[in-house]
Amino acid sequence: MEVEDIIAKIVEETELEEDEVRENIEEKMEEFEGLVSEEGAVHLVAKEHGVQIAEQGDGELKIENVVPEMRKVHIKARVVDISDINTFERDDDEEDGRVQNLVLGDETGTIRVTLWDEQTEIAEKIEEDDVIEISGAYSVEDNQGNAELRLGDEVQVKMADDDDIPEVKNPNEAQEASIIDVSEEGATYRVRGMVLNVYTSNPFYTTCPECEDSVREDEDGNHVCEEHGEVDPEYALAISAVIDDGTDSIRGVFFRDQARDLLDMEEDEELEGDVETVEESAEGVAGKEVELEGRTRYNDYFGRIELITNSYSVLDTEKELEQLLDIMEA
Ligand SMILES: [Zn+2]
Repeated sequence: MEVEDIIAKIVEETELEEDEVRENIEEKMEEFEGLVSEEGAVHLVAKEHGVQIAEQGDGELKIENVVPEMRKVHIKARVVDISDINTFERDDDEEDGRVQNLVLGDETGTIRVTLWDEQTEIAEKIEEDDVIEISGAYSVEDNQGNAELRLGDEVQVKMADDDDIPEVKNPNEAQEASIIDVSEEGATYRVRGMVLNVYTSNPFYTTCPECEDSVREDEDGNHVCEEHGEVDPEYALAISAVIDDGTDSIRGVFFRDQARDLLDMEEDEELEGDVETVEESAEGVAGKEVELEGRTRYNDYFGRIELITNSYSVLDTEKELEQLLDIMEA
């Protein structure tokens, strides 16, 4: 911690004004007749006033130690991922809101940083793999119970020396793996294998046509959206299938687009919510060689890790061969 930072900390945590702190430092240096440096003196002043100055690590936290609901978070970390900016409409404002996510990492883990509105300008100045230092941030709990960093008014973001932070793997980037090696929760994997089974019981859930959130059914059989009240629901697909690659098998969960890809169904067929269509479509799927990419989560009911699919493709070797022949003939 620099002298100026410690002075600021003393001012923040005590009744002292900045010039009083500087006077105290001068006095200390006089008192010890040149035996203590300014830095030494400022530490002594801090100690006298009960202000904790971390001796090591400058109060920096490793990412694994950042938990929800912390204030004045100080980390140094590598930029692992910078998302695109999403814009959204604000009820009370003519200007659209902007939101963007960063993933930062060090050797202990990764954390998401959410940038709102003008904070997204920070992301314009950095690139993936840069090391940055953030101080004065705060943390909140995300919807999976993990800490997420937010930048308040007092935040400072600066570029940092990248020597002490190792390379960090992007948790959003898929690692290619044999199914038996798919073990980490909340990580993204790409696996290949054969579809063994497609489960078609309860293939639909109901959603609100206005906001697409899922709706619940009340005792009278009405469909109710939290936000929009009683609605005439739409149907959305949620299918699971077991994939096996010879090393092990895993359950893939397919929602909406991914489920339509799996079953080779059209969107209007999905919206109709006809179970028979799903069953018919599922018949041809078992036995296909496929490639899945998805994020892992632990399924409490089955006591196993499963893959929430975000992309799916059929590895149709016959088709590839045909295309190759077409190209050669052309
Ligand atoms: Zn709704």
